[in-house]
Amino acid sequence: MKKQYLTFIFCLVLIIGCATSPTGRRQLMIVSEETAISASKQAYVEMLKPYEQEGKVDNDPALKDRVYRITERLIAQAIRMRPETEKWDWSIKIIDDPKTVNAWAMAGGKMALYSGLVIQLKTTDDELAQVLGHEIAHALANHSAEKMSVAMATTVGVVAVGVATDRRGLALTGAALAAALAVQRPNSRAAESEADRIGIELAAKAGYDPRAAITLWQKMAQVGGKGPPEFFSTHPSPENREKKLAGYVPEMMPYYEQKGDRPIYRL
Ligand SMILES: [Zn+2]
Repeated sequence: MKKQYLTFIFCLVLIIGCATSPTGRRQLMIVSEETAISASKQAYVEMLKPYEQEGKVDNDPALKDRVYRITERLIAQAIRMRPETEKWDWSIKIIDDPKTVNAWAMAGGKMALYSGLVIQLKTTDDELAQVLGHEIAHALANHSAEKMSVAMATTVGVVAVGVATDRRGLALTGAALAAALAVQRPNSRAAESEADRIGIELAAKAGYDPRAAITLWQKMAQVGGKGPPEFFSTHPSPENREKKLAGYVPEMMPYYEQKGDRPIYRL
């Protein structure tokens, strides 16, 4: 009887818990996007707090200016792709941490970029637009809610949530804690492919060279020293990443070469 009951619950979760991503992939979704967005808002504040207390957020005016200018053009394109995201409280913060090559995005367009990514990869604006476009794509495709769902659906996830509370001392519980943990969990390779495909399009439409997607990932693979960049632990390389990106370039060039002003979303 108990086993049947569990099977019934499991099926119910599968039925109500599946959604379809923008590229048609099935996603496990037991956390609604709305919940993910409000939980992420709370988690974002808590996660940035320690850096803010040390004066390490947006503290380089030139870098801030550069990153904001690119992000504002990308968000405008994201809104064209998914108009309801205009009401999101979009945000990007630059964390002064030259040793860390990383960037992340939470539900609702809450993003962070570590200065190490710009410094160590010596990124051009076109390459930076590919990173940021990729992060925006994760938010647009609701990958954060997907990762939160996976964390909350597994016993391991529930245990991890409990442990993380003690270890990290984050003043977060429940869904907000799951949102904080979600940015540290690896995306699936399918989610990575999706973010690559959407990201290169957002960047091209915002006026950034799609060929920079290839050089970006080449640089990412070469940088290291002590080990692979943090970025790879949360953004695993899908199969044939560079080859796939190169394959998108011909389709993206007309967007990139389009004349005229590009819209801007003011941050
Ligand atoms: Zn990614």
